[in-house]
Amino acid sequence: MVTDGHNHTCAYSPDAKQTPEQLIDSAISRGLPGIAITEHYEINNPDSHDEIQIFNLDDYYRSFKTWKCLCHDNFNLLLGIEFGYQSNSEDSIRSAAAMIPFDVVILSNHFFRGRDPYYSDSCYRLSASERNNEYISVMAQMCENLDCFDVAGHYDYINRYNPDSSGRVLYDDCPKAFDRLFEALIYKNKSLEINTRSIMKLRARGETNVMPDRKVLSRYLDMGGSMISLGSDSHTDDTLGIEFEDTCEYLKSLGFRQTVYFRQHQPVFEQL
Ligand SMILES: [Zn+2]
Ligand SMILES: [Zn+2]
Repeated sequence: MVTDGHNHTCAYSPDAKQTPEQLIDSAISRGLPGIAITEHYEINNPDSHDEIQIFNLDDYYRSFKTWKCLCHDNFNLLLGIEFGYQSNSEDSIRSAAAMIPFDVVILSNHFFRGRDPYYSDSCYRLSASERNNEYISVMAQMCENLDCFDVAGHYDYINRYNPDSSGRVLYDDCPKAFDRLFEALIYKNKSLEINTRSIMKLRARGETNVMPDRKVLSRYLDMGGSMISLGSDSHTDDTLGIEFEDTCEYLKSLGFRQTVYFRQHQPVFEQL
């Protein structure tokens, strides 16, 4: 098993159901070498339905130190955060990222034209290429404009709540936007996240083709991208590390040799 780099707890993420203690217990019992706690931090959240906002980071850091005491020496508990990106939040993200000594910063885009697809299905009235091109282009902009991050989170979030069949985001939907995103990540030595919660959701819908589009990952690899991170995006303690085994096998079959997690923003590689 490899480190699970993306997890939420109810201590700071209002949409999570697991306590930090449950998360840590579950990780240890599943034999994971380590996890990052990456609570949601959504600056200027434009969706009034969404209760995810910001919180006191000093308080978070103090809490993290108490959670660390629950772990044995061989278990790697990492302090992370998941910043939700808005084009008007760049300066605030920069300041927040520098406030406490994070191991890992994930940058994510949870919105499409100001609405979270979890609450609004309006984006699904557009064609896949129009929707995905716009969403991935915002992710590219996010990775071009900001340096204070380590991982670009769940590029396929936009299709997670798609009521139509295939919820996968395909390279051919928006090749130019993907290339722009990959170029920024590779140039800056940042990592692309494979979010296994997306895989889990597809599997739960009875789909058989659940792994990320082969063409997305092959293109990333061909362009020189080797930094890839796994995150279960767990909000409950039964989904930690979910789909990791199949995903690791899949990545190996595509030619990836290792995954990466971050400690004090430094990449640490784990063999697949
Ligand atoms: Zn969440
Ligand atoms: Zn997210």
